[in-house]
Amino acid sequence: MTADWTDSAIETRAIHAGQDPDPTTGAVIPPIYQTSTYVQEAVGVHKGFEYSRTDNPTRTALHQMVASLEGGEWALAYASGLAATQNLTYLLEPGDHILLSDDAYGGTYRLIAKVISRYGVDFSLVDMTDLDAVRAGLRPETRLVWVETPTNPYLKIVDIRGVADLLQGHPAKLVVDNTFASPYLQQPLRLGADFVLHSTTKYLGGHSDVVGGVVVGNDRAAYDTLKFHQNAAGAVPGPFDCWLTLRGIKTLPVRMDRHSANARAVAEALREHDAVERVFYPGLTDHPGHDVAARQMRDFSGMVSFTVRGGFEAATAVAAGTRVFSLAESLGGVESLIEHPGQMTHLSVAGTGAEVEPGLIRLSVGLEHVDDLIADLHQALAAAVPALAAR
Ligand SMILES: *Cc1c(COP(=O)(O)O)cnc(C)c1O
Repeated sequence: MTADWTDSAIETRAIHAGQDPDPTTGAVIPPIYQTSTYVQEAVGVHKGFEYSRTDNPTRTALHQMVASLEGGEWALAYASGLAATQNLTYLLEPGDHILLSDDAYGGTYRLIAKVISRYGVDFSLVDMTDLDAVRAGLRPETRLVWVETPTNPYLKIVDIRGVADLLQGHPAKLVVDNTFASPYLQQPLRLGADFVLHSTTKYLGGHSDVVGGVVVGNDRAAYDTLKFHQNAAGAVPGPFDCWLTLRGIKTLPVRMDRHSANARAVAEALREHDAVERVFYPGLTDHPGHDVAARQMRDFSGMVSFTVRGGFEAATAVAAGTRVFSLAESLGGVESLIEHPGQMTHLSVAGTGAEVEPGLIRLSVGLEHVDDLIADLHQALAAAVPALAAR
């Protein structure tokens, strides 16, 4: 019997949902059940656990936690965000079609374009910020519409309720990859999405120390299919990974508040800088998606992208020239990261028409003091850009 936290605020649920004290010892934190199997009293007589690919109590605790945060009936956890993505595609049959965001996460694009499409599932790309284009892109055989918002790396905003309304009466299910927002800032199921997906590697885990994914939903029949395939295909997270993710989630609300405040200050500082051409941050009032973001998000999260004068060479130099920001892929951890999408996260979209600008830089703004972050960007820009401009 687990306690019901449905009426509590998300800050409270992030600490308590699925986190009942251990009944045998009273341990406040649910243990890491580092076991592969469970003893049976007689053949088939057990306490609900048989084998840890199928179920593990630490994973069950994570399922309950994430379902609670997203306001879903159920959640399922996987060994990575892409394992979660792959599992969702098991809802499809040959002949079905996926309508995918034209700036989806590169790994999602690669999985659908290079792997799933080999099994008779077709896909096409559309700008999800344009609802007319989404309507035009729907086919009778479309079964999944795959939205990310904010998008990566341009931080475009998709109107989740707008897309959900458009799918009324159509058999396609709406998936929202909520990795960039986290359930603290945005809850897509409440806006009409059918499934929410996370790379828990990012904000949910929050400390750059674990890789994982989750899917959350309300549809029981879909749960049965996904749960069957999760067990059948086996890309489950280990108990220690589930525990690390749960540990990270407890501070999600305070982290997201600070990530958002720091990112806004960084975006504003970059906008004032002569070496910066354009800043992409949905919290800026002149961002084209600002109004929709303000409506569907509590705050604007910690991701900021910008283009530098001097293009590819300057951007490469800035990315290598920071000291507080580490040059690395990924995002959502307490430490700030900088990367050059054209050569790093978005290399896999080269040649697809979805390429990013050569002068683009993406930041995952962490929880260091914001003055240190801004000073670091200033010194890297000063070192990289005037030298190039002088040529
Ligand atoms: C990282 C990421 C994924 C993939 O997750 P992994 O945990 O790396 O497999 C999917 N979507 C988005 C938006 C991501 O940032």
